[in-house]
Amino acid sequence: MLNILIFGPPGCGKGTQSEFLVNQYNLKHLSTGDIFRENIKNKTDLGIEAKKYIDQGQLVPDFITIDMLGKKMQSKNDFSGFLFDGFPRTKKQAESLDDFLLKMNQEISMMICIDVPERELVSRLLKRGESSNRADDQNKEIILNRIKVYKDQTEVLKDYYQKQNKFFNVDGISTIADVKEKIFSLIDIYQRES
Ligand code: AMP
Repeated sequence: MLNILIFGPPGCGKGTQSEFLVNQYNLKHLSTGDIFRENIKNKTDLGIEAKKYIDQGQLVPDFITIDMLGKKMQSKNDFSGFLFDGFPRTKKQAESLDDFLLKMNQEISMMICIDVPERELVSRLLKRGESSNRADDQNKEIILNRIKVYKDQTEVLKDYYQKQNKFFNVDGISTIADVKEKIFSLIDIYQRES
């Protein structure tokens, strides 16, 4: 199985690249942000709770997010691996993910981080906010808070996966097609060598 974790700050292009990856490698896409937004749209209890945090640019508490992700991983499907997008975002989530995968006799294959400087992120997110309907993309203060939360709580995971020799960095400043090619070639090399 090929279990990819696509990683990077808000606005780095994780969602866009995920769409290419699921098709190319037949992966099951698990985006915690998308799952939350779907629940918010359907006004479920989970959505109502998560919205309080998402609208402020804060992380939804670990116990809620981990429980939700664990349930989504159980659904049986014909796929060649998972693509985790926006999860894990804390060390506790990363440890829980390792546990979930271990129970399935699996592990993370690679963490691919898309590297984009902060100034570029803010303008990208504000631009996305003009068309996306995402309240958290429409307010500069909330965007800056999301970037701060990434730096304070999430970025540490680079180290977590580097220690396991699973960390790969990609320059996210070039075109979407270029970034895609770079990611595909990293995965293809990994698959050839493993
Ligand atoms: P995203 O679509 O990945 O940018 O996520 C949008 C928002 O959903 C984030 O700013 C968080 O409020 C929440 N969220 C998504 N994934 C997680 C996660 N793994 N842990 C906690 N909160 C999350």
